Amino acid sequence: MLILCTNDDGYMAPGLGVLVEAAQGLGEVHVVAPDREQSATSHSLTMHVPLRARNVRDGWHSVTGTPTDCVMLGTQAILPRRPDVVLSGVNHGMNMGEDVLYSGTVSAAMEATIFGIPAVAVSYAGRDDVHMASYAGLLARLLPQLVQRNDYPPETLLNINLPAIPASEVKGVRVTRLGRRVFTDSLTQGKDPSGKPYYWIGGGNIEWGLDEGTDYHAVAEGYVSVTPLHLDLTNHALLRDVASWELSA
Ligand code: MN
Repeated sequence: MLILCTNDDGYMAPGLGVLVEAAQGLGEVHVVAPDREQSATSHSLTMHVPLRARNVRDGWHSVTGTPTDCVMLGTQAILPRRPDVVLSGVNHGMNMGEDVLYSGTVSAAMEATIFGIPAVAVSYAGRDDVHMASYAGLLARLLPQLVQRNDYPPETLLNINLPAIPASEVKGVRVTRLGRRVFTDSLTQGKDPSGKPYYWIGGGNIEWGLDEGTDYHAVAEGYVSVTPLHLDLTNHALLRDVASWELSA
């Protein structure tokens, strides 16, 4: 297998090293990752300036762009051929529920899915990365079960969250749906040194619903969550209802 690893925390982030270590058993691993932190850049593409890729070490390239740029360059220009699998992460911080819409980590995997390449996004659900390195072995066992199969579903990526506990204490793996935030307090307002107001997004307290079957619930109970995500955002259950509105132009 030819494997492309990327992330949104930048090529120097420890989490990427954990992912690369875990992926070694799958085949030939190449890294194409942003040259700096690109968290919360979602699925953005760099279109108005040229991109540069730098060979930072054997098999590793840094790119002056977003995670989505990295997947595009990796699959179409840098790797010797189209990769068989794209892995994204290990993100420093959870990517659950609504997070997947902001996440560069998940979007990199989504970009691979658009190209028809099986993809897995991995995130570590801790505010610090104390136990992150302990997951190399667990991921080396789990990733082949996900990607070395003939029935990998089309138009689907797998979104993994790792609980912020030592990997040796993990209770197992649960297949989950996306959770929902019930409260988030992430906008800080203040005054800059010259007295002008500023607004800063991020941090704060996030509270989640504790519904069983969700990614958040599984991780909170000490399980690794695996959530299948697909590209089709259509609300199929509502198609008939909205059609009954008899909209006219
Ligand atoms: Mn990140």
